[in-house]
Order: sequence, then structure tokens, then C-alpha cells
Amino acid sequence: MNNQDFRKHAHQLVDWMVDYMEQKENYPVTPDINPGEIYDKLPNEAPEEPATFDQIFTDFEKVIMPGMTHWQHPLFFGYFPANNSAPSIMAEMLMSTLGAQCMSWLTSPAATELEEKVVNWLRDAKGLDSAWKGVIQDTASTATLCAVLAARERASRFSINEKGFIGHEKFRVYSSEHAHSSVDKAMRIAGLGLQNLIKISVDKNFAMLPNALEEAIKIDVKNGFTPICVVSALGTTSSAAIDPIGEIGKIASRFGMWHHIDAAYAGTALLLPEFRWMIQGHELADSYVFNPHKWMFTNFDCSVLFVKNADDLVNTFSMTPEYLKTDQDDHVHNYRDWGIQLGRRFRALKLWWVIRTFGLQGIRQKLRGHLELTELAKKWVENEENVILETPTILNVICFRFVEKSLSTKENNAINQAWMQRANQSGKVFFTHTILNEKYVIRWVIGQTDVKFEHIELAWKILQQELAAVKEQFFQ
Ligand SMILES: *Cc1c(COP(=O)(O)O)cnc(C)c1O
Repeated sequence: MNNQDFRKHAHQLVDWMVDYMEQKENYPVTPDINPGEIYDKLPNEAPEEPATFDQIFTDFEKVIMPGMTHWQHPLFFGYFPANNSAPSIMAEMLMSTLGAQCMSWLTSPAATELEEKVVNWLRDAKGLDSAWKGVIQDTASTATLCAVLAARERASRFSINEKGFIGHEKFRVYSSEHAHSSVDKAMRIAGLGLQNLIKISVDKNFAMLPNALEEAIKIDVKNGFTPICVVSALGTTSSAAIDPIGEIGKIASRFGMWHHIDAAYAGTALLLPEFRWMIQGHELADSYVFNPHKWMFTNFDCSVLFVKNADDLVNTFSMTPEYLKTDQDDHVHNYRDWGIQLGRRFRALKLWWVIRTFGLQGIRQKLRGHLELTELAKKWVENEENVILETPTILNVICFRFVEKSLSTKENNAINQAWMQRANQSGKVFFTHTILNEKYVIRWVIGQTDVKFEHIELAWKILQQELAAVKEQFFQ
């Protein structure tokens, strides 16, 4: 493609992008297709002949678009959002145009220094300890793995990296029963073994019980295990439950353990001073992760890991073969040494663009808007006959279900499942579920970039209609 065509088609694409943003509500939130349908529409062999922009674009619209789930749809209420925004998309365009690989300071000084600056901005704007340092990772899963690996290395005096596990077979890590599966995955990848992740029980609001943590640690110590790390959840994925960070931190420091805080979703709320209570006592912790790519309008992927002592990361991950050495190594951050990847994208650019375009004020305003909508939706849910909230709604995640007292949990679960499926099958909304104490619970997450009153109003109308239909089906 020559530059003239590139210019022309890129302009066409921008027009398409803005049209999409304006019209995204007209798409079904989730596609109505069967597994394999898209695959079968694509040729089995890579094309030998070059295709024109128009040919490819036609196929994009005809074959690809009908198979997309529209995460930016304001009636997408499932999982947690993966928000984007115009400034983030524009920065992403520049990032791919520059095509820089930002593994070290020298490979793009501006990328490294901008990263250092924006993560400091975020640290301070969120009220995190000003002595901490941050690094951008692809996802929270990676950041949590990095924390677990650093905990493992610190506990073994950085010997497992060199010698393997000899003499360190009895390490234990703790999290609540409701911690994200990325903690389980980190146990496997870090070679610690899933069986050595001890799941701590939770209170009635699904937050970790510090006493149970302490008990579990004491039993392990008695049995010759070494507790090395606890991962607390600041906002569980099921129900956005908030573990008691301060109390967990005190226990962790008493036993000399690493304390990692997984705030992947809820961490964005710390930009609002009224939510700072959630990190009271975090100064005792060692690391903290949150995803701007969930609720902070920065398109996937972008996750920020903060650490109290960056040397723990560098001593765990630094690998400097001759061909990567530079004259500045002693004076700069080489972020390749702060994580798993060598090559790194210039993600700081989109954070910078998002923060400057919205301003912290603008971000706070949007978050508060989502929280206000949540308050409204919560009232509607609460006031519906036979529908109850299963958790306190601290942030913008409403967990609810239908209950008919005369029925068993299993029967009620079937009703709730049918209720959610019917709503989703309309293609107009999208919800996902969780299981809390064996009960099937529908989650309603109100955090989409462009969600407004009219959307939650419509969503509730659909839910009410489908509930009536389900009742008819089950109770006639
Ligand atoms: C979403 C989520 C994760 C995983 O995030 P990725 O960035 O997709 O790896 C981890 N922990 C919690 C609490 C989450 O909500």
C-alpha cells in the first residue's frame, strides 16, 4: 500500500470508527451465531494474491463484524467492562504508527519517562503511598504472577531463580475463596503448586476473614510450611467484595510475608476520595495492581502494578545479556527488568492521553455518574417482589436473584438462570452470573463508558418482562 492509499483508507477508517461509536447501540450486544460459523466462512489457506483495502474491508463488515460481542455497547453489563474512549483510541493509533518497542530507556526514552510520570500521577491521585513505584503490564494476571514470583524469590533469598526449588518445597500462599483465578494460575506457573494456595473463608459480605487467615498460617507454620505471600482482593470478581486490607497487612508483616493487593477492577474507585477507606493500611503491603483497561476508559490492554520496593522486581526479573547492555543502565529505569516480557508496548501514551483529555475531574465525574446510576438500579431491583440483593452494593456491581421461598435453591437457581438467559437472548442487553453460597446470582455492572439513565431504564424493563415470562413458564 502506498502512502497515498494509506492516507485515503485511514481516513475512511476513522469515519467508520466514529460512525461505530455513534451507532454501537444499534448492534445486538452479543452475536447470534453458533461455534465454528465464522471459522467456516474463512478460507482454509492463507491467500497467495494480495487483496485490496475494499475487498478486505467488505469481508470485515460481512464476516467479522457479525461475530463480534460489543463490549462498548452501553447495554453491556457483563463481567467487568473493558472500556475504551476516544482519547485512548487515538493514542493507540499513534502507538501503532510509531511502532516502538519500549523494552528499555534507550529504545525510547520518552516512553520510559512518560511511563514513570503517569504511574506516579496515578499513584498520587489514588492516595497510594508516595514511596511506591509503578510499572505498566499487559494484564492483572501478569502483574499478580510477577508479585507471586517476586514473593517467591524474596522468600528464598533469590535462590529459586538460580538453583530451582531444592530446600524450598514447602511454601504457602493465601487468598480468599473469592480471589480471582489468576492467583491459582500464578501458583501453577510459579512452580509453587496449586495445592499450596490456601483459600481462606469469607464473611457474609464475601470479604476475607483475617482471623481465619491467621489460623491457617499458624497451622501451616506448625506443620513446617513457610508462608510467603497473601493476595487480598480489593473488589472480588464475583461481587466486588473488599477484603480488609489493613488487617491482612498486619498479619502479613507479622509473618514476614509478601502482601499483594488485587484491585484489578475496583482500584479505579480510589480516584474518588470517598473510597480511600478501602486501602487504609496499604502502606504495609508490598504490591498493588489495578486495570485502567477495565473502568478507567483506557482500551485493553493496560494494567498498572505498584510496588513498595522495585528492587524486588528487578532482582527477580533482570536478565541482561551483553547485547542488551547500555551506557545508561545505572541511571534509568529499564522496565523490561520489572516484569516478564522483554518487548513492551508504549501503553503509557494512552494513559497520558486519557488522563489529560478527561482530567482527573472528568474521570471522577464519570465514575460518580456510574455510581449514581447504580444507586437507582439497585432501588428498582430491591423493590421488585421476590427479588433480593445478595451483597451490599459498595461500588457499581449489583448482585441479585429471584427467590421463591417455597422452592429449593436448585429450583430457584434454574429460574434465575432462565431469567438471565432470556434477557441475554433478546440481544438487547448482556448480563453474566456468579455463584454465591451455591446460589445463582445475576450480576449487573454499571460501568460502561457511555452508559446513561435511558440504558439502565431499558435494561430494567427487559429484566422485568423476562422475569414475568419466566414466572409464567415455571409457575403455571
Ligand atoms: C479482571 C480481574 C483480574 C484479571 O484481569 P486481567 O487483566 O484480564 O488479567 C484479576 N483480578 C480481579 C479481581 C479481576 O476482577
